[in-house]
Amino acid sequence: MPRLQDRIALVTGAGRGIGLAIAEAFVREGARVILTDIDSRAVQAEAERLGPAALAFALDVREEDQWRACAAFATGRFGGLDILVNNAGITGFPETPGPHDPEHLDLGSWRAVHAVNGDGVALGCKYAILLMKHREAGSIINISSRSGVVGIARAAAYAASKAAVRNHTKTVALYCAEEGYPIRCNALLPAAILTPMWDAVLGTGPEREAVMQQMIAEVPMRCWGMPSDVAEAAVYLAGAESRYVTGAEIHIDGGILAGSAAPPKPVSASD
Ligand code: NAD
Repeated sequence: MPRLQDRIALVTGAGRGIGLAIAEAFVREGARVILTDIDSRAVQAEAERLGPAALAFALDVREEDQWRACAAFATGRFGGLDILVNNAGITGFPETPGPHDPEHLDLGSWRAVHAVNGDGVALGCKYAILLMKHREAGSIINISSRSGVVGIARAAAYAASKAAVRNHTKTVALYCAEEGYPIRCNALLPAAILTPMWDAVLGTGPEREAVMQQMIAEVPMRCWGMPSDVAEAAVYLAGAESRYVTGAEIHIDGGILAGSAAPPKPVSASD
């Protein structure tokens, strides 16, 4: 039995990577899915590939007038929305000049990252509440990061913006509960998920494999995560199985936040 039969879902940043995997999983589970992205060509092509349950809409999450237009589209087409995944996000590395360390940070680059990761999520939550509050059951899923839990020395804006996403998720969850709206809001905290976002770090040349191996030495499970690993958690938070879960966080990180990958070992008796 499909777990999201006839539910109406919208995913931001669905042109590739984690957002696309979530859209695919939602379609598989019977939902009708609006794939949105700033890259309108990518999202159009992917929606066509996914078939009649998928529709494309060009949406830059930083722009409130575009959210308004997107909300009108969802209402006109489906009468509202049941599931929103605020997935669009940037690290700021390929997109802004930087630097992103706290001593030398470039304010324009800091603001550019916050505009997508912070403003984009806040606007998404705002329009989702409007579209979901009179429906049977709504679920907002915000994609934060393990970088929203720990500091990242040379990615200050990314880390701070992802921490803001975690906090706003709890605020939205409490607000909706307090207002008596049938809307839950939760966060997913991925790390080391192999998507094009990593190309700036891993490169695309012959050194890529070695850098990939080097990076997972820090991951307790010693492997990269896949976009589908995040998508399956999104299916759980979107559906009725999680009906009593709100303001919560799920880590999808191979154990990174559980502790060190190389803890000190006790000296054995024979040493
Ligand atoms: P990605 O770079 O592969 O895909 C991001 C998508 O967002 C792209 O399709 C891009 O066009 C779109 N986008 C960028 N700016 C936008 C805007 N202003 N409006 C609308 N769409 C926009 O990234 P990904 O790895 O799939 O990451 C998806 C989410 O997961 C992000 O929020 C990211 O921070 C988070 N995340 C990823 C990882 C990871 O390891 N990949 C880890 C932690 C968190």
